[in-house]
Amino acid sequence: MAPTPATQRLVDNKAKKIVDDAYAGKYAVPAVCCYNLEGILATVRAAEAKKSPAIVQLFPFSIDFADGVMLHAAAEAAAKASVPVAVHMDHAQSPEIIRRAADLGGFDGIMVDMSHYERDENMRLSRELVAYCNERGIIAECEPGRINGGEDGVEATSEDMEEILTTPEQAEEFVDLGIHWLPAIGNIHGPYPTGGPQLDWPRLKAIEDQVGDRVRIVLHGAHEDHFREELMRQCIDYGTAKININGVMNREFIRVATELAGKVPLTTMMEKQVQAMQAVIELNMDWMKSTGKAA
Ligand SMILES: [Zn+2]
Repeated sequence: MAPTPATQRLVDNKAKKIVDDAYAGKYAVPAVCCYNLEGILATVRAAEAKKSPAIVQLFPFSIDFADGVMLHAAAEAAAKASVPVAVHMDHAQSPEIIRRAADLGGFDGIMVDMSHYERDENMRLSRELVAYCNERGIIAECEPGRINGGEDGVEATSEDMEEILTTPEQAEEFVDLGIHWLPAIGNIHGPYPTGGPQLDWPRLKAIEDQVGDRVRIVLHGAHEDHFREELMRQCIDYGTAKININGVMNREFIRVATELAGKVPLTTMMEKQVQAMQAVIELNMDWMKSTGKAA
């Protein structure tokens, strides 16, 4: 049988369907940044326990560090899950890593993050790399603005680069590149300065009005100090359909290790780490109202 054409694979793309369904159903899907097998297991187990769709997100670190093995583990866990789980690459920041990730097989989506380049170069590289992904049946998330602050394993925006917020016009230009997901709000990774996030709701509404018929709005920078049920609901009301979570879940891995290392068998510690991470993901599924949506 001839291989499915990439265009058809894009239409059938699991990550796209998960987030489109969330948008239509007025909830959001947690996209969980996983650094290890425990994180992947916690995400899939939370999804199955809560009957929620979910997305496992990996950073380029997972490929550099584990030579693709972690990606293949994530893809297998997602394929075996009893509910829809997709695998997405978060913040891929060089053309080399994006091509390598797309060629490895296993990613449903890739974030083509060229936002550390100046605008014209960001557009040029994004155009080329989004096409590379789409030709392989992989959807792309692109960042027209700039997200301040780093995440573990992700290059932080250098201090002399100004924060840039996405405008409806830029959003339109990026949608034209063939992207499926657009980060448009929540522009700080990690903790927010005093006063918390200053979310620009009119800007978000303008972007959603401009491109919401063709692209899904996704949220980075959902720091747990502020992004709990109420603020998540507000983002969802404005069209957000994927919310990334990272520190709130991964700090459980460290907390349990700090408490139990050397005191219990290693296997016991690992089981407790997965359980603790799973509990946080489940709570976020309740807040995002994705619980029960895969039933
Ligand atoms: Zn991010």
